[in-house]
Amino acid sequence: MPEAVLRQAAADMLDWQGSGMSVMEMSHRGKEFGTIRDQAEQDFRALLAVPDEFHVLFMQGGGLGENAIVPLNLSRGAGVDFVVTGSWSAKSQKEAQRYCRARVAASNADSRHTALPAPSSWQLDPDAAYVHLCSNETIHGVEFQELPDLQALGSRAPLVIDFSSHVASRRVDWRRVGLAFGGAQKNLGPAGLTIVVVRDELLDRALEICPSAFNYRLVADNHSMYNTPPTWGIYMAGLTFRWLLAQAEGDLRGVDAMAERNRRKAELLYGYIDASPFYFNEVAPECRSRMNVPFFLRDESRNADFLEGARQAGLLQLKGHKSVGGMRASIYNAMPLEGVQALVSYMREFERLHT
Ligand SMILES: *Cc1c(COP(=O)(O)O)cnc(C)c1O
Repeated sequence: MPEAVLRQAAADMLDWQGSGMSVMEMSHRGKEFGTIRDQAEQDFRALLAVPDEFHVLFMQGGGLGENAIVPLNLSRGAGVDFVVTGSWSAKSQKEAQRYCRARVAASNADSRHTALPAPSSWQLDPDAAYVHLCSNETIHGVEFQELPDLQALGSRAPLVIDFSSHVASRRVDWRRVGLAFGGAQKNLGPAGLTIVVVRDELLDRALEICPSAFNYRLVADNHSMYNTPPTWGIYMAGLTFRWLLAQAEGDLRGVDAMAERNRRKAELLYGYIDASPFYFNEVAPECRSRMNVPFFLRDESRNADFLEGARQAGLLQLKGHKSVGGMRASIYNAMPLEGVQALVSYMREFERLHT
């Protein structure tokens, strides 16, 4: 979370703008919360230039919830194509099997998820209800730098993207998207809020068994108030949208400023790792994630020392996911360039002491 957002939330904690209430004490149907919700949606739309033909839904259930909610709403019980590029898209495909024929149209498992399969090699079914991909694989550190143009690949299906771990780190090419979903907890706010951005034409396809609270049509028609939405999460994400809109890098504003900052952060870290004989990253350079940087020490017997020294230097949460091992630096939007500089200085010093 950006520090400025946490400070604002602390200042508002007991009394939001003279209302005499904390945001957590408001009725979700009251005018105060209505203002917070509407402003959050407006700012999110402005931040990511979301076109009018999309609805922005504030939901609960997280990314894994959406792995079921998307097929319940969009699959019509038919075939769905999955592009499996790491742990998260693999989980999505597995969960969807409960509700539809979830085909693997492409996979990078043979490269151990270190390179993205070329879209021209995907085995797409022209009649698939939709095509799912994870645009940033958080654990394996592979990111689509560009979304595929499904029509050009001979598919008529809408594209569904899980953008949980890089939402608001760069622009989204909405022309190529049918639905995007993401848990807020990586780049936008506290856990508990899930954002779904969905094209109007996809709202009326839900299966009979779809729970009402997760039916996109009902949620959209009720402005995300079909049931109580995660009010605190919406408020915090709203503060983050404001903060993001105000960011600047030279002439760049908002998400473009973030994209530039994220590009520089990633370049610094990957550049150092690639130049060092002590560390390495296995992901093909053209699909490396700007948000999640997995890396390894060539001598893995030093892993515990590396992590302990990092902890003492105030550099936290660097242990890699258990399925990949090694280290992982998650350098989300709120991580300033100085944080990455501090990490690189620590890595350089550790290398110097051990070579
Ligand atoms: C973190 C993450 C999720 C998380 O799902 P939750 O149900 O919110 O825990 C889903 N997809 C991706 C790509 C993620 O990085």
